[in-house]
Amino acid sequence: MGPPGAGKGTQAVRLKERLGIPHLSVGDMLRDSVRQATPLGIQAKEIMARGDLVPDGLVSDLVAKRLAEPDCSGGFLLDGYPRNLAQARRLEEILAGMGKKVDRVLALRVAPEELVRRLSGRRVCPDCGAGYHGESRPSKRPGICDACGGVLVQRGDDREEVVRERLRVYLEQTSPLLDHYRKLGLLHELDGSGSVESIAKRLGEGLQQVRP
Ligand code: AMP
Repeated sequence: MGPPGAGKGTQAVRLKERLGIPHLSVGDMLRDSVRQATPLGIQAKEIMARGDLVPDGLVSDLVAKRLAEPDCSGGFLLDGYPRNLAQARRLEEILAGMGKKVDRVLALRVAPEELVRRLSGRRVCPDCGAGYHGESRPSKRPGICDACGGVLVQRGDDREEVVRERLRVYLEQTSPLLDHYRKLGLLHELDGSGSVESIAKRLGEGLQQVRP
């Protein structure tokens, strides 16, 4: 968990390698649906463009379907879901049906001005998904992906006015979930500032500490 720009995606990619489990980014799944213009993508497009949450039922069905795939049987890392209490309750039901439960919640804490700085400088490769930042993680050739040569773009929802709305939605709807998971004894909050490596180290320590 963590606000937009906290580094969830960057860290999740590292964590999935380390743990050998799939990384389920609901934002990525939704962006794929938009690109492919599926019925879900058509519905989600406008909502995502203004920084609001896609309706709970649609998102939870997407997650339930993905969790039923065989590669999730040995565990999985959820990134960007649940994002409100209703989704958290639905996740508990989905997992109960699979004989599983949430066993760790890692939350990254980052100051609002740092989030805005990170998001406004963020560039992504639409071909392979690699992420860059104009100042802190520039590509070798400006505007070109180091990994695949794709042309880097700014996500539509990383524009300043949409970032503000995403942060508002996070504070209003998602941050109350921290309390929910704190009460369940599952939450480990950590400082999400500093280098990618130092945050990865803290996350690793957090994984050791949370024991349900
Ligand atoms: P992200 O890539 O996690 O920043 O998500 C990008 C956008 O996808 C969000 O601003 C929402 O519009 C939508 N989205 C991602 N995850 C969820 C979720 N769990 N519930 C509703 N909408 C979501």
